[in-house]
Amino acid sequence: MDLIRDPAAMRRWASEARSRGESIAFVPTMGYLHDGHLSLMRIGRARADRLVTSVFVNPLQFGEGEDLEVYPRDEEGDLAKCESEGCDAVFFPQPDTMYPPGFQTRLVTGALTTVLCGASRPGHFDGVVTVVLKLFNLVQPHVAVFGSKDYQQLQVITRMVRDLAVPVEIVGAPIIREEGGLALSSRNAYLGPDERSQALALNQSLALAQELFAAGERDPGVILAAVRAHIQAQPLGEIDYVQLVDAEELTPLYGPLVRPAVLVLAVRFGRTRLIDNRVLSES
Ligand code: AMP
Repeated sequence: MDLIRDPAAMRRWASEARSRGESIAFVPTMGYLHDGHLSLMRIGRARADRLVTSVFVNPLQFGEGEDLEVYPRDEEGDLAKCESEGCDAVFFPQPDTMYPPGFQTRLVTGALTTVLCGASRPGHFDGVVTVVLKLFNLVQPHVAVFGSKDYQQLQVITRMVRDLAVPVEIVGAPIIREEGGLALSSRNAYLGPDERSQALALNQSLALAQELFAAGERDPGVILAAVRAHIQAQPLGEIDYVQLVDAEELTPLYGPLVRPAVLVLAVRFGRTRLIDNRVLSES
C-alpha cells in the first residue's frame, strides 16, 4: 500500500494507473476509520482494479465553533485498517498542501443545501463539494463510494457530478450500525455513556416510522409526531430537525406520501450532533 501525502504525487499515481488501463475506485473520508468506512472500501474494492482511500479533515467544511480542532484522529490506526482492507493507496494530505496560500476558488451549491444540515451548517456543503471535486481531480477515480448515512451529502455530491459533468460514477452505500442500532460515526467518540444509550432512540424512531409506513400510514404529520415523541422522551437529546423529505430533491413532504420519502433527523446530545435517516419502504 502506498502512503501518499503530496497532491501532485497522488495525481501522478492515478495517471500512471490509468495509463496502464487500470480502473480506480475511491473512498474519501475524514479518518478515525470505523466499520462504516471499511464497508465503503469493500464496495470500492469489488468495483475497480485499484482502491484509493483518502483521509483529510477538510477545514473548508467546518463552520465557526464547530469541532475542526478536536475532530478525532488516528493516523496509525487508519493506515492499518486501509492496509487490511486491501487499499492500494492512501492519500493523506495536509490542509496547507490542499489549500496553499492564494487558494480562493469554491463551488457553490444550490437548493439542495438550503435545507436540513445545510440550514444549520451554512457553507458546509460548499466546502464538501469543493474538496470532493479537488480530490476527484487528484485521484481521478472511475467510481467513488459515499455512505447514505450522510444522506444529504450523497445527494449533493451526486448532483454536483451531474451538474458539472464530472466523469465519475457515484455509488451510495448502506448505513452500517452498531449492535444496538446506533449508526457508526467518528463523532460517536464524543458521546458519554448516558448519551450513547439515549442515542439508540434515533434508530428506534426510524424503525417506528418504517413500521407505521409499512402498516399503511401515509400522513407525514402522524409519522413525524411519533418520531419526535420517541426522541423527546430522551432527556439528553435535543432535536435539530426531524423531517420527511422527497428522496431526491430533499423538499419537505406535506400531503399523503406518494413519492419515495426519506425520514431524516439530526439530534444533539450535549456537544455532539448525530444524524441518521431511513428511506421508507412498503415492506
Ligand atoms: P466521514 O469520515 O464521516 O467524512 O465519512 C466518510 C464516508 O463514510 C462518507 O461517505 C460517509 O457517508 C461514510 N460513512 C460514515 N459513517 C457511515 C456508516 N455508519 N455507514 C456507512 N457509511 C458511513
